[in-house]
Amino acid sequence: MFDDRLPKLPIVLSSAKSYLGACVYQKKKSLFGKTTYYNFRLRINKRMDLPEAEIEDIIIHEMIHYYIAYNGIKDTSAHGQVFKKLMNDINERWGRHITLSRKMSADEKEQLCGNKRRPHVVAVVHFKNGKTGIKQLPRVHQKIIAFCNALSKVTEIASFTLYVSDEPYFNRFPTSTALKIYFVEKDILSKQLDTAKELVIVGDKVVFRK
Ligand SMILES: [Zn+2]
Repeated sequence: MFDDRLPKLPIVLSSAKSYLGACVYQKKKSLFGKTTYYNFRLRINKRMDLPEAEIEDIIIHEMIHYYIAYNGIKDTSAHGQVFKKLMNDINERWGRHITLSRKMSADEKEQLCGNKRRPHVVAVVHFKNGKTGIKQLPRVHQKIIAFCNALSKVTEIASFTLYVSDEPYFNRFPTSTALKIYFVEKDILSKQLDTAKELVIVGDKVVFRK
């Protein structure tokens, strides 16, 4: 897209609440007023679980900023005429859907900014291959029990435990009863579970473990 004319640059994962992607760099002015740009990095937000193509579009958007700054091109504004032309050309030529600013749904805003505490029912699943995953479940007894019954039939699973937690960490995981488990880092998860309460199934009810 950029004719192989941009040097590779670091992509830094970010937890910022204000943007999905950003191209950051430093500026210096020489004695004679010439500005040079250096130390380019792309910052990409990791708070949101977006489809791959959308993440790519965010990266390409930021690379257009990189292209403009790296080549010292003057634009009419941050997303000025030069930016728009490059963006439209790439969209047309490569079938992308890059936009000037991505509109976020209420749910995405919550993922990005949400650190509200609300109770989550979470199944922590240990696989026989050593991996750990989690699943956020609806807070409905029958649905939790049906999900656990389905889980216990999966041969790749060694064990699973139910918890209730109000840690905002869990806000990012979708709630459903589909057998789709999200793999997570064990260390990170175990910290999040410090304040969690364990749940057990007794008859047709899900109750706190005594
Ligand atoms: Zn931009």
